[in-house]
Amino acid sequence: MKTQLIILSLVLQIALHLNSNAQVGGFVSMDESMQQLLSFYNTDTIIVVIPNGYEVKQNDKNSIESFAFWRENLVYIYKHESALHAEDMAKHLQLFGPAFLFETDIIAGSPIKVEKNGFSYQGRKLKKPNDSFYYMNNEATRIYTCRNGDDFPLVYNEYLAGGVYQLYVFNGSSITLSGFDKGAGSTPNINDMEKLRAEYFCQTISSQFFDLHFACSYSAINSDSLARELDKFVTDFCHFLEVDTSGIPKVTTFIYSNREDLQLFIAANSNQTVYGKSFGNTNHNMHFDLGIFKHEAGHSIIGSKVGRNPNPFFDEGFRQYTDYFFSSEAYENDLKIFKKNADLLTPELVLSTNNIFFSKMLNYSISGVFVKYLIDRIGLEEFKSAYAQNNINETMQDNGFSLEYIVDEFKRLYGSSNRIK
Ligand SMILES: [Zn+2]
Repeated sequence: MKTQLIILSLVLQIALHLNSNAQVGGFVSMDESMQQLLSFYNTDTIIVVIPNGYEVKQNDKNSIESFAFWRENLVYIYKHESALHAEDMAKHLQLFGPAFLFETDIIAGSPIKVEKNGFSYQGRKLKKPNDSFYYMNNEATRIYTCRNGDDFPLVYNEYLAGGVYQLYVFNGSSITLSGFDKGAGSTPNINDMEKLRAEYFCQTISSQFFDLHFACSYSAINSDSLARELDKFVTDFCHFLEVDTSGIPKVTTFIYSNREDLQLFIAANSNQTVYGKSFGNTNHNMHFDLGIFKHEAGHSIIGSKVGRNPNPFFDEGFRQYTDYFFSSEAYENDLKIFKKNADLLTPELVLSTNNIFFSKMLNYSISGVFVKYLIDRIGLEEFKSAYAQNNINETMQDNGFSLEYIVDEFKRLYGSSNRIK
């Protein structure tokens, strides 16, 4: 996930007035909304308003508060709607929680309407537990981030990191609607993503583990042999990972004609370069390339069978490590890259939660070989459990070494091309 790097680059682009969003192929362009998003966070305190009786889970708090990483000392105060004072209304408010639980008409500032157990937009009812929406008012003083059910990751922050619309409706980790609705008699400008997808994708191939949607530009693909190959990849992947294949939700993968189309569909700003992207169990590939496909599918399988880790070094490093199951050359190659760039491996890189990791492609290789070393040291089972619980650092300490120590040790053993082959 290149979330933070992307926002940083957008912040810089705006600062430099390099905005090059063009409207392409029936999509509503993203225009000036990034500026609005920045101004929403350009305050000292954000009050997160939640329905009376509702409590915010710790992992949701972490997601909410980690979004504006470029703002230091931004304070978040959580308040039930009945605890709001008149002076709070002048502050920047983030509404959070199921919209239908609010007792006051606080949602009325958005074009979303509350329904029993859900919400609706322009008459379209969205009542599944994994339906959610994001909306920012025209003044950039309020954002509405409401999800019907609790047990789903917050997707708005991942999408917003790539580009910004005023309104999003999500189902799970997919965009259902995106665009602008400035209210007050203006005409909404909305991408109906289901309709756009229906027009853009012509062939669907379903296998045991995947649903692949191919852009209409692809001519008929031999679905049987492809399905067999991809399912075998999952079976082998799970075998190496020492997990079974039960309970893996089908991974939906969209295969585009080119990168530009991919970026339109995932609402990534046109100034970025995105080859593939994994949002939970929905993946996007810029074209049909098995390498990109397997990379993104690997993230999905690890997420389903082991767990998710928010640290980019471990997230990408563990995914990269799985390449070595399939190819010893992949490992040799990454090790070679590491030897030439051993200085880049530092405890700060391992722990980086900001843009450091994604600033260099080399870090994928470095994280892969380091994760392999760590796994060889502590065992796959212990690593997997620490990865899922996000306590890899503590696990190292339980094994009698610190992160600093093992980084040093690894660099001593493998960091120079003259020592161990
Ligand atoms: Zn990745």
